[in-house]
Amino acid sequence: MACLFCQIAEKTQPADIVYEDEDVIVFKDIAPKAPIHVLIIPKQHLATVNDIDDVHIPLMGQLFATAKRLAEQWSIAEQGYRLTVNVGRGGGQVIDHIHMHMVSGWKRPV
Ligand code: 5GP
Ligand code: ZN
Repeated sequence: MACLFCQIAEKTQPADIVYEDEDVIVFKDIAPKAPIHVLIIPKQHLATVNDIDDVHIPLMGQLFATAKRLAEQWSIAEQGYRLTVNVGRGGGQVIDHIHMHMVSGWKRPV
């Protein structure tokens, strides 16, 4: 059975999708920690950063490029935002499909 985020990428599990291209999909976090809280994921299943190989490096770059483009689109590039990738249970990762949290919109950074 595909993992939860693979199911979101395949549209068999509902999500509030805000951006999508051939390789990347972005959707709102179900439990937002700030006014803007989205998850940027590769459509390809990679469980954690520990599973990244040389061949995946361009794909990982696309996650950052997507964050940058969305920040411009949402006019938060100047004020700033946080990009977080949790790795493994000890790093706070709960869903085993690589995802970059993009969080912004606090009055003051926390
Ligand atoms: P992690 O702790 O693995 O870095 O983050 C997983 C994130 O996925 C959490 O912030 C959690 O709120 C979010 N999440 C868990 N289940 C779902 C879901 O079914 N849909 C969406 N959109 N987000 C989810
Ligand atoms: Zn997956």
